[in-house]
Amino acid sequence: MIVKSRVESLELQILRMLNARMNLSPKEYSNYLYLEKGYEGEVIFDRWMEEVEKGFLVMNDLLLEYGNTKFQIDSLFISKMIHLFEVKYFEGDYFIEGDRWYTSNGVEIKNPLQQMERAESLLRRMVRDLGFNMNIESTLVFVNPNFYLYQAPRNLPIIFPNQIPRLLNNLQKQITPIRNIHSNLAERLLSLHTHDSPYERLPGYSFGMLKKGIACSHCHTLNTIVTRKTLICNSCGKKENIQSAVLRSVRELQLLLPEEELTVSRIQEWCKSIKTKKAIRNMVFENYTLSGCGRGAHYTIKEKDEGFLLIE
Ligand SMILES: [Zn+2]
Repeated sequence: MIVKSRVESLELQILRMLNARMNLSPKEYSNYLYLEKGYEGEVIFDRWMEEVEKGFLVMNDLLLEYGNTKFQIDSLFISKMIHLFEVKYFEGDYFIEGDRWYTSNGVEIKNPLQQMERAESLLRRMVRDLGFNMNIESTLVFVNPNFYLYQAPRNLPIIFPNQIPRLLNNLQKQITPIRNIHSNLAERLLSLHTHDSPYERLPGYSFGMLKKGIACSHCHTLNTIVTRKTLICNSCGKKENIQSAVLRSVRELQLLLPEEELTVSRIQEWCKSIKTKKAIRNMVFENYTLSGCGRGAHYTIKEKDEGFLLIE
């Protein structure tokens, strides 16, 4: 049973939007791709785990803090013991020398096992402090079939793509009825989940320097055209109802520039291809409250329903 589902991180969402609207530096771009790939891997992992998730309390993408140290967990499966999964979507050849991990061309990467062990150790202390006495077992799962790790010692807690069915089998065997103690632990951990603000890590940008237009909901490019009722993407062919596309763009603007005042003129400039302010007003009216009026005055808009803003 899924207690906490996986959503794209705010940082990934924002970098994806920025990638369409400005030139990211090579470093920012590679960070963006890293996050995009990471999420893709986690989605593949989730699909595999669907087979067994009913037997566990499943918490995805937890960000916890113990003793001023933040740590992130890709997936936690709680039953009579706690399974912690660190998921990687590495592609290509890698090799290990001692504690160090390298790509095939010899570039050292962060040791993912150490990252996982650090999370496990912090989680163990946290769970103990909360008053639970449960075993934790961590596994590093590689989900990309085009991944190969040379010189990997046999005893490492690693699952390679072709071993995933065996992992599922083992989990299946461990399924026992979920007890109160397990739900209590899940509830406590969920209440301790924190949110991370990515804004400090992001490249600098302002409203003026971002490219305007409505991005495609599928391929995220700005290569779209607006017809009377539909947004059509010239890159991938995706069609979307224009009102939902405009509302999505408003949300995008809010995520990118949370401090900016939201006005109808601003939205029109942002979407670029909506001809009249009246059309914008009509489209956002259902979801936002408009205040301010009169000649020359602009409308300030506020969300009617806070739930409209997707949070991480
Ligand atoms: Zn598209």
